[in-house]
Amino acid sequence: VLTLPIAVTGQQIGFICILTDMDRSLSRDQALALNSALHFLALTLNNAHNFQDVKQQADFDSLTGLYSRRHFEMRMAEEVERSNRMRYPLSIIFCDIDHFKQINDNLGHQAGDDVLRGVAGTIRDIIREQDYAARYGGEEFVILLPRTTPGRAVALAERLRRSIGSAGYETAEGNVRLTISMGISGSQAVEDKNSGRLLQEADIALYRAKSDNRNCVRE
Ligand code: GH3
Ligand code: MG
Ligand code: MG
Repeated sequence: VLTLPIAVTGQQIGFICILTDMDRSLSRDQALALNSALHFLALTLNNAHNFQDVKQQADFDSLTGLYSRRHFEMRMAEEVERSNRMRYPLSIIFCDIDHFKQINDNLGHQAGDDVLRGVAGTIRDIIREQDYAARYGGEEFVILLPRTTPGRAVALAERLRRSIGSAGYETAEGNVRLTISMGISGSQAVEDKNSGRLLQEADIALYRAKSDNRNCVRE
């Protein structure tokens, strides 16, 4: 049995264990070759580890744990392509917290952050396994609903709106009540979809929800 440390810049990250039933010892050249192979193995493992860290940071929003906008846009492009190919419907929901600035102004940024985490939690609880929710901007969230008609998306959005409106969100400054507005766009199975257009239509619908006194869903 030969046990050798794997180290990167002086820090030990693991061991490699070589077992053999042969009765032999390593020559100096063999030991040097093994040592240099281990050095490359350590570097490769370290790079893979760093890559995972960077990918995690790029794919997820650190405040809410939802997907990042960058990841959402990649995912949306894939889903639109797949739903066009397979003739599935597809919908998206744009959500924007009502008068969020007042929460920050009255209770402070920390309480605002607590509320964002809480709302993200409600979104996560309500959506289904196949849906993707992301933090799109400051207090804006977007949910992608593959294989879902706009009509079913409206029903899900209404459920989410009621749930957020009736929940109280715990913050450092006490419990906070709030409402949310939502805009929906979607495509039936038969038509070809376009990511940019779907996002634009959801944004226009959200704008309508805001003009209609907020706390509502518009399609
Ligand atoms: P409306 O009902 O029209 O949406 O009003 P609003 O106040 O929600 O909209 P507005 O866009 O004016 O305000 C959004 C605020 O969100 C402004 C910004 O300071 C705040 N914000 C953006 N990102 C964060 C964040 O990460 N944490 C906190 N606490 N606040 C944020
Ligand atoms: Mg906003
Ligand atoms: Mg807002």
